Amino acid sequence: QAKKQGKMRSVLFSPELVEFEKQRQLIETAVREGIEHGRFSAYFQPKVRIDTGAIVGFEALARLRDDQSALVQPIAFIPVAQDSGVLEYITYAVAESTCKLLQQLAQPGLVGAINISPTQLNDLRLIADIRTIMASYDVVPQQIEFEITEEELIGNPQIAKQNLDLLRSFGFRTTLDDFGAGYSSLGQIKKYAFDTLKLDQLFVNTEDYNSTAAYGVVNSIQALANTLGMAVVAEGVETAAQMDFVRAIGIEIVQGFYYSEPLPLEAFVEFYYANQRTLKRS
Ligand code: C2E
Ligand code: MG
Ligand code: MG
Ligand code: MG
Repeated sequence: QAKKQGKMRSVLFSPELVEFEKQRQLIETAVREGIEHGRFSAYFQPKVRIDTGAIVGFEALARLRDDQSALVQPIAFIPVAQDSGVLEYITYAVAESTCKLLQQLAQPGLVGAINISPTQLNDLRLIADIRTIMASYDVVPQQIEFEITEEELIGNPQIAKQNLDLLRSFGFRTTLDDFGAGYSSLGQIKKYAFDTLKLDQLFVNTEDYNSTAAYGVVNSIQALANTLGMAVVAEGVETAAQMDFVRAIGIEIVQGFYYSEPLPLEAFVEFYYANQRTLKRS
């Protein structure tokens, strides 16, 4: 018994766990203060058509600066924000920045993507708030895309489908994010009728992405997705060799460091106009 207790204690107070808890508390504080002081923002990463080189859209990615002005990464603060019930505040801030950018660029065909997570698919008030802010920036639903990861669909597939249908009935586009990182098959996800399937980075950002097997897998995902009426976007493309790989498969739209990292709003606007000038010249 004593031995068991000793073991328990060493687990509870292991240096790793103490460190982890400390980190988490720091992030909790940064999130709370971030909301108080408006330190959340969005960075924007272009989505590019391979054949023309044109920017057809962008993904808005949440960023947080702590009190030292250091960037905290979403992988750290999104789960914390979700647990403490303030993720909707962040999503709203990201949606507002997205609208601001879309209004500034004034390109009706340009689509801005916002990430939403599990519970948010059920959050009809959040969706209503986003529609209200869109209207005030003259942004129409056809310009907004919601990216949702597959894990979110598994919990309650019926409700998920209803909510996705509702979003589409408003005119929003829907994208399945990080496909291939989870366990869903295309057979399971076809009922959700996503407009777009975004391949997980693991398909291009690995050592052996260029093997025959890898080619075969991505090629059949692409073919099946197209058969089901979904466009395919490749994410995480960094190198020219990776570009060749996705091009050979016939993927049309790419997002990745190869073109650009996520950029603050003003830098994205510059990048967008530079891209347009290049297109006009060629
Ligand atoms: P995600 O939605 O799959 O977003 C793509 C992530 O891949 C971004 O990381 C982006 O910076 C990164 N990325 C893009 N191209 C490349 C590349 O070529 N190479 C590499 N190595 N990485 C690339 P980020 O911004 O750190 O976001 C991470 C995740 O955090 C997102 O993955 C998303 O799941 C979540 N997230 C970010 N913003 C939000 C948000 O506003 N709401 C929610 N619910 N989740 C968010
Ligand atoms: Mg995403
Ligand atoms: Mg993704
Ligand atoms: Mg991801």
